[in-house]
Amino acid sequence: MANSLKNSLLEFDFETLQNFLVTNGYPKYKAQTILQWIYKRSVFDFQDMSDLSKKDRSSLGDLFDVISLEQKNLQISEDGTMKFLFRAKDGQNIESVMIPNEDDSRYTLCVSSQVGCALACSFCATGLMGFKRNLTIDEIISQVLLVDKVIKDTHKLDPHDRAIDNIVYMGMGEPFLNYEAVTKSIEILNDQKCFDIGTRRITVSTVGIIEGIEKFVHAKGQIRLALSLHAANGEKRKKLMPIARKENTRQMLDSIRYYQQQTGRRITIEYILIEGFNNMEEDVLALKHELKSIKYNLNVIPLNPVASLPYDAPSQTTISDFTTRLKRHSIPFVLRVSKGRDIDAACGQLALRNQDIASSD
Ligand code: SAH
Repeated sequence: MANSLKNSLLEFDFETLQNFLVTNGYPKYKAQTILQWIYKRSVFDFQDMSDLSKKDRSSLGDLFDVISLEQKNLQISEDGTMKFLFRAKDGQNIESVMIPNEDDSRYTLCVSSQVGCALACSFCATGLMGFKRNLTIDEIISQVLLVDKVIKDTHKLDPHDRAIDNIVYMGMGEPFLNYEAVTKSIEILNDQKCFDIGTRRITVSTVGIIEGIEKFVHAKGQIRLALSLHAANGEKRKKLMPIARKENTRQMLDSIRYYQQQTGRRITIEYILIEGFNNMEEDVLALKHELKSIKYNLNVIPLNPVASLPYDAPSQTTISDFTTRLKRHSIPFVLRVSKGRDIDAACGQLALRNQDIASSD
């Protein structure tokens, strides 16, 4: 961050780090040594990098910052979901959520891309906070490294293995409004000499920013794209998502078609089910019609109610009626169950409440 004159080590991939070290009078091979400590052994302090000379440890420590966040709080849900609260150097708070997969041996990490969010979707707690700022590449990668280390330490895993095997950009913020930092963080996380996670194991979720979708065609690798649709009917969608007033939903879906033609990749459509709002026959018909010629997987997510927001979670009957309708129209779907509700870690519940901030000091 701006208040440090040092370079952020996490903003370098292998190649740029090699070049940077050479420019600064170090041999090229040290890049691999340093990255191994950080990404493969979760050691973030040069003083602990025991195969570096004492002189290197201190001069590298003067040259680079490694982790830019500090862990302030960790809440663990009954279902094993963990919500991390981090503090950035400028005092801003950032949340990340770790979700254990079914067998508890693999983990999905949900990272934030911004502090707060400018989009003000009417069902989302983060939207209530407003927008504070973009996260840096370094802050995005710090979330991954810190959480990975905590999981490895708690489960006594081999430090050389990654504990996290899926990363979703579905925390706070809109990834496509912080496009450069998000895509660069993915390149670095994907780099074999860095976190070495396959791009197919990374998903970016967007409200549907046309410019971002079109740019994303050129992103390296096979990153997965998820679209928060929530209503296929443009007028209805405008009520939920102010972005739909600025960017027409049909045009946005055309940009998804373009993305798909160019990349051949199937996309995920996220559909929050809201009681009495988007669960009717007409909603399913609109989905079928508007998504014509798009290859997608539909994720139906019962709304996580947010206090002070005017929407209700769907009843069991509403959920089963809606899914019956989808089946009748031959629309394949997966019904997602939100995890971590008891600690406000479920989708749309991330918001830095006073309580979180107080408990973190
Ligand atoms: N801005 C991006 C990523 C962050 S939100 C996006 O909108 O896709 C991640 C997902 O959580 C989105 O699909 C979002 O619509 C959903 N979400 C937000 N509030 C929710 C709530 N109250 N209940 C369930 N899902 C919610």
